[in-house]
Amino acid sequence: MSLVTLLQIQDLHVTYSGSRGTIPAVRGVDLSLDPGRTIGLAGESGCGKSTLAAAILRLLPPRTEVTGKILLDGKDVLEMSFGALRAVRWSSASIIFQGAMHALNPMHRIGVQIAEPILLHEQVEEKVARKRVAELLDQVGLPVWRSSSYPHELSGGQRQRVMIAMALACNPDLIIADEATTALDVMVQAQVLDLISNLVRDRDVGMIMISHDLSVLADTCDEVAVMYAGKVVEQGHAHEVFAGARHPYSDALASAFPVIGDVEARHRPRGLAGDPPDPTDLPSGCTFHPRCPVARDDCLTVVPPLEALADDPQRRSACHVAQDGLPIRTPAPVRMEESTT
Ligand code: SF4
Repeated sequence: MSLVTLLQIQDLHVTYSGSRGTIPAVRGVDLSLDPGRTIGLAGESGCGKSTLAAAILRLLPPRTEVTGKILLDGKDVLEMSFGALRAVRWSSASIIFQGAMHALNPMHRIGVQIAEPILLHEQVEEKVARKRVAELLDQVGLPVWRSSSYPHELSGGQRQRVMIAMALACNPDLIIADEATTALDVMVQAQVLDLISNLVRDRDVGMIMISHDLSVLADTCDEVAVMYAGKVVEQGHAHEVFAGARHPYSDALASAFPVIGDVEARHRPRGLAGDPPDPTDLPSGCTFHPRCPVARDDCLTVVPPLEALADDPQRRSACHVAQDGLPIRTPAPVRMEESTT
């Protein structure tokens, strides 16, 4: 295992420029990832997790301001020339997007598309690239004859497997999966998640997995970072965050999934009212306070830092209540009218 941390993100800020002025999408994030480990990024749409992932490969729109450091194998991605960055994409780090149908070229057979980064980055002969394509298809559970198929001839799950094969094509050290299984049905999702987990373990790559579904991350990742309004608000072992959140927002995300057979949960579904804040007009103090069921007076004025908890140093939480060691289990909402269904 490498002695250098695979990925270190230090005080990352990403600010978009638009017709409404500047939009702070990521506001001071620190993360690190070692080879063979998986970290999940959770949160609602607009919390900054996809922006953070795109920043790692500098896939952001022009005029976006990015500050901080993104050290990949010790080299700062933000300082790289475009030539160096081009070499890093695919060969050091690759990304799996959500919509495989949109990411694949409908005009080309999938074998050609998987071979393209191999030919470009490794400059091998075509027959070598073809052999690698066959190996990759086998690894992701697709028959080799599928290399001559066009994307529309494959199911959603098969297309997502092709995306994974493409991400693996140049043996990257880091793979970013951005909602890679969100569009799949639960059975195919489970298969693809299993495949991803095995590949991470067998190839000793690091993986960042992005999902709004905390249960998916709890099953797949070693660690999870929950983001809200551009910041990490809780970080810790994935299973522990899912089973016993130490931030009211993570608790709400974890509780949003009904338990089969739990009649009480059916009649009193837990969830979270309201929407994430407008990034151009963030609330004072803790940005979560307008939606927080356990907010208190100091939450409106004092920004809670993301700090290790005194009673659990492996866990970090940006919450005054959690830092004081108080339970943050949020109350269930008022009982709904009994339904006959
Ligand atoms: Fe809620 Fe206050 Fe904790 Fe923010 S700091 S999550 S408002 S209790």
